[in-house]
Amino acid sequence: MRPVLTFFFDALKPESLKYMPFLDSFPYKRRMRSELGHSVTCHPSMYSGVHPNKHLQWFVWKYDPGNTPFRWARVFKYLGFVDNVGSRYFLHKYTRQYRPNNTSWFGVPLLVNVPLRYWPYFNVVEDRAWDEPGYLKTYPTVFDILRSHSVQFEIVGMTKGAGSEFNQIGNHRFAKIRPWTYFFLGSIDGYSHKYGQDAPETIDRMRRLDQLVESKYRAYEQLVPEFDVFVFSDHGHIPAPKRVDIHAVFQQHGVKLSRFIHLIESNYARFWFRNDRERAIVERVLSGMHEGLILQDEHFHRYHLEMPDNRYGDLVFYLDAPYLFSKTIWGFSRGQKSMHGYLPDHPASDGLFLSQRPLVAGEHAELVDILPTLLASLGLPIPGYADGQVLWEKAEALNG
Ligand SMILES: [Zn+2]
Repeated sequence: MRPVLTFFFDALKPESLKYMPFLDSFPYKRRMRSELGHSVTCHPSMYSGVHPNKHLQWFVWKYDPGNTPFRWARVFKYLGFVDNVGSRYFLHKYTRQYRPNNTSWFGVPLLVNVPLRYWPYFNVVEDRAWDEPGYLKTYPTVFDILRSHSVQFEIVGMTKGAGSEFNQIGNHRFAKIRPWTYFFLGSIDGYSHKYGQDAPETIDRMRRLDQLVESKYRAYEQLVPEFDVFVFSDHGHIPAPKRVDIHAVFQQHGVKLSRFIHLIESNYARFWFRNDRERAIVERVLSGMHEGLILQDEHFHRYHLEMPDNRYGDLVFYLDAPYLFSKTIWGFSRGQKSMHGYLPDHPASDGLFLSQRPLVAGEHAELVDILPTLLASLGLPIPGYADGQVLWEKAEALNG
């Protein structure tokens, strides 16, 4: 077993290494192929070693009327309640008090531009934090696996509301070295959304984080003679200056979007149909939207997104870069200069993987490679169901 030191950066592009001299000094580099989705898709792939068609997490919300936190909102189907953004904020606050024990990253978010009468169809996919036992219902996470082998680990920087990396990681002291130390650096994503990853504000942040990581690395190096270190990110960032108002598109076809059970996210529009006529209308409207496409079986297969049922939609429309929907479940996409969650085939969707230990041949690493690679360093067996591979060259020599 070799102790492992890992730094995770949310949304760091390989091209940004030019601003990060310490990270750029790592001799072994790969581009990281992302999943087609956002963090709720990427993190489970990283932590379970399997693609979304196995871990079954693709979006923050799924169709799940039986377990919705909004059961109380069913009355709005029958009452002429004033349904506007103000009342939605109020009722959402009420729901959070009613279900306060969701420890997941997003909790139970407000469905901003979704009519109240549709809220009771939906449930959040994540009901706890990534590192909590039983995060995924279908596969153990790397945290579950380490716990089951009594291998200790330490996570620094993932605590919501505990301050920036400079507080959480900067103030961390290595008291006792655990087999795995995981530093989580989340702010580059937020900076990139707000300013763009190539903006001076973000570049300044990256320079400072590079110094922070170097200081942690140097402190660790003093204490541990031999270890594996790797750095990775989950996806890149793509400038998204253009907007599509899908409500207006439906209006132009003489239909109201609100007629259909739907969720509009940054660059996805998902629909659930009560009958074939609804499907025909929606397909007719969307087929005229050339900024994106309706995902077909070939896409689900290519991106490992085949699902056992319609929880993520009877129809999923994908909006390509540089577009974003303007009225979404999250708000109005104002102040979003840049986005991710576009096709992994876009080079700008790539994250990165860096190490000081030689890597197997290949141009890309994948998010599902993280779990096998970490387990190989720790000398733990790699589960046969894992979709990823060990990235270390001659991994078998260290497994025995
Ligand atoms: Zn993001």
